[in-house]
Amino acid sequence: MSTIRQSDLIESVADALQFISYFHPLDYIEALGQAYQAEESLAARDAIAQILTNSRMCAEGRRPICQDTGIVVAFVRIGMDVRWEGATMGVADMINEGVRRAYTHPDNVLRASLMADPAGARRNTRDNTPAVIHMEVVPGDTVEVTVSAKGGGSENKSKLVMLNPSDSIVDWVVKTVPTMGAGWCPPGMLGIGIGGSAEKAMVMAKEALMEPIDMHELKARGPANRLEELRIEIHDKVNALGIGAQGLGGLSTVLDVKILDYPTHAASLPVAMIPNCAATRHAHFTLDGSGPAKLEAPDLSRWPKVEWKPSPSARRVDLATVTREQIAQWKPGETLLLSGKLLTGRDAAHKRIADLFARGEALPEGVDLKGRFIYYVGPVDPVRDEVVGPAGPTTATRMDKFVDMMLEKTGLLGMIGKGERGPVAIEAIRRHRAVYLMAVGGAAYLVSKAIKASRVVAFADLGMEAIYEFEVKDMPVTVAVDAAGESVHETGPAHWRAKIGKIAVVPV
Ligand code: SF4
Repeated sequence: MSTIRQSDLIESVADALQFISYFHPLDYIEALGQAYQAEESLAARDAIAQILTNSRMCAEGRRPICQDTGIVVAFVRIGMDVRWEGATMGVADMINEGVRRAYTHPDNVLRASLMADPAGARRNTRDNTPAVIHMEVVPGDTVEVTVSAKGGGSENKSKLVMLNPSDSIVDWVVKTVPTMGAGWCPPGMLGIGIGGSAEKAMVMAKEALMEPIDMHELKARGPANRLEELRIEIHDKVNALGIGAQGLGGLSTVLDVKILDYPTHAASLPVAMIPNCAATRHAHFTLDGSGPAKLEAPDLSRWPKVEWKPSPSARRVDLATVTREQIAQWKPGETLLLSGKLLTGRDAAHKRIADLFARGEALPEGVDLKGRFIYYVGPVDPVRDEVVGPAGPTTATRMDKFVDMMLEKTGLLGMIGKGERGPVAIEAIRRHRAVYLMAVGGAAYLVSKAIKASRVVAFADLGMEAIYEFEVKDMPVTVAVDAAGESVHETGPAHWRAKIGKIAVVPV
C-alpha cells in the first residue's frame, strides 16, 4: 500500500506539461536528425532544418515548440493498493488542476486552445482545461501517468475505418495517408490501433503514439511478430509516397509507425490511425508515494548540430511595396524572406469577416487588406521582453472556403499558412492572380524571432484568434501555390514518389 498526495499528482502533471512544451522527446529529435542527414529534397531538408533549429531554441529558451500547445491527453494507471492523502477532488479534477497551472505558468504561458460548447458558442475555457483522460485501475501500489499535448492540426487528420476481416490494412493506410495532406506537419509518426471496437481502436491508436521511436533498432534486429512486420511495411510504403517534410516532397514522411492491437469481433476489423506531428510531445512518470515526479532535462549536446539559416539565394520581399505584377513572377517552391507589415487572421476572424460582408457592413477600422498578406496564426502570448510568443502557421485548408470571398472583396494579395490548399482555394488563387505562401509548421519559436512588432487591430475578444498586425523582418516562407495555380504540394510529392520509384504515381 502506498499513500499518494493530491498535491503530488497536481504538481507532477503541471511540471510534465511545462517540460514537454519546450523539450522534444530525445528519440524524436534523434530520428529527425537522421532523416535530415538522409534527405535529398532541398525543400524538405530546409523544413527539417527549421524544425531542428526551432527545437534547440525552445529547449534553451524554455518556450513552446509550437504555437499550438495542444489539447492535453492523459493515460493514467492507478494501482489498486494506492491510498490518496488529503484528496478533496477526484483524480480527473487533480489532473485538470495540473493542466490549469501548467498553461497559466507566468514564466512560460502556454496557449489556451480549448473551446467549451463546441457545437455552439465555442467559448475558450482560458486555461486549456479540461484534459481528455483515460483511466484504468490495475494491480499495484503506484500511479503511472503519461501526459501528452496533441496539436489540432495532426489530431484533425485522425481516421477510423471498419474494414472487412479479409481486407488489407496496409492498402488502406497507403491509400489514406495522401488524403491527410500536410496539415499534420510531417515528419512525424503514425499511431495505429487494430481490433477491439471502433472506440477501442481509436484509443489504442492514440496510446501507441506515446511509445518511443525505435524503427532503426527494429529494422536492425528484424521483426519478431506480425505487428512488427506491419510496422516496417507501413513505414516503408508511406515513405515511398514521397510526401516528405511539410508535404513538400521528399524521403521522410514518417519516422516510425506504432501499432497496438486487441481481440475483435469475427465480423470486424476496426483500424484507427492518428498521426503525430513535428510537435511530438509526451512525458511519462510514476508516483509511488515518495513525492512529486522529477523529470530530468535532456542533454542538449545530443541535439543534431543543425543551425538553420536563410538561403543567400532567397528572394527578399518588401511588403510595403510588393505588387500583383511582382507576385506573378514567384515560382512554386521558391523561398522568400518577407519584411514589412502583415495582418493575421484564422478561423474565427474569417467567420466574422464573412458575417460582416453578408450584412453589408465594412471591415473594422485598421483592417485594410488591399495589397497585403494575411497570416493564418494564433500566437502564444508573450513573456518577459518578447514581442510575441511562438507564432507558427496554422492549417490553411480550414480557411479554403473563405479564400474567394477574401480575394474578391478585400484586394488581398495572398495568404500564409501551413500545408496544402484544396481545389476550391487553388482555383480562387489562380482566378485572382494571388499567391499562397507556406511557413513551416512546428518551427513557431524560430518564426516568432522574425516578428519585430505586434499589436491587436481588431476582434480583441477572440484572444489568440484576434486580428494582429505583425511587423516582420526576413520571415522565411515558401511559395506553395503560385499565381497560375500550380501547387508544390501536388508537384513535390509526385516528383519524389516517381524518384523513389516504389509506388506507381497517379497523375494529379
Ligand atoms: S507542429 Fe503542426 S500539427 Fe503539430 S501542433 Fe504545431 S501546428 Fe499543429
